[in-house]
Formats: sequence, structure tokens, C-alpha cells
Amino acid sequence: MSERACSCGFAVSSGDEVTDHLGEMFIPADDIAADGVRHAEDGREAPGRACLCGFTSPGAGALDEHLLTVFTPTDETGRDGRRHAACGETGVSCESRGRR
Ligand SMILES: [Zn+2]
Ligand SMILES: [Zn+2]
Repeated sequence: MSERACSCGFAVSSGDEVTDHLGEMFIPADDIAADGVRHAEDGREAPGRACLCGFTSPGAGALDEHLLTVFTPTDETGRDGRRHAACGETGVSCESRGRR
């Protein structure tokens, strides 16, 4: 993940921050995803390596991708009612992603 911006207009200088932004927009306060399972970093394991659902990551970063995968709705609409999709790199223009 090396995208530089979000279709809502949010822009950052590092890809990690886009992931953080998407997490803030998609992850509910109770950490319960559409599948009814609670997904959150399991603090009993190494930081950033395990999810409460049983998922374990071989390396840093994979847990963030797992959380985004389970929490991103199919229409990519966040809790604020706006559409959020990483864009700005690999030929994905923010303009095209921001329109339905
Ligand atoms: Zn999980
Ligand atoms: Zn956004």
C-alpha cells in the first residue's frame, strides 16, 4: 500500500497514514465488523501481529490490511457518509474514485 490520498480529499505524505485514515473512517467504536466478529489488535501478542478473530500476521503491516479488508464496506462509504478509497498512485486518479 503506497497510495498518497483518499478520494474524500484527504492527502498525506506516507502510505501508512492513508491506512490510518481509512481505519478511522471504517472501523466502528465497538470494533465489530459486518461479519459480526470483533476485529482489533490483540495486545497479548506482538504489536501489530494478531487480531482478536484469530488472524495472525507474519509481519508488520499485514494486520492493518486485514482490518481494512474486514471493515471496508462494499460501497466504501465511511461512518461520516462520504466515500473513502485510497488513490493517487498506480494510475488510480482521486477524481475517478470520488465519483460513483
Ligand atoms: Zn480479524
Ligand atoms: Zn477519506
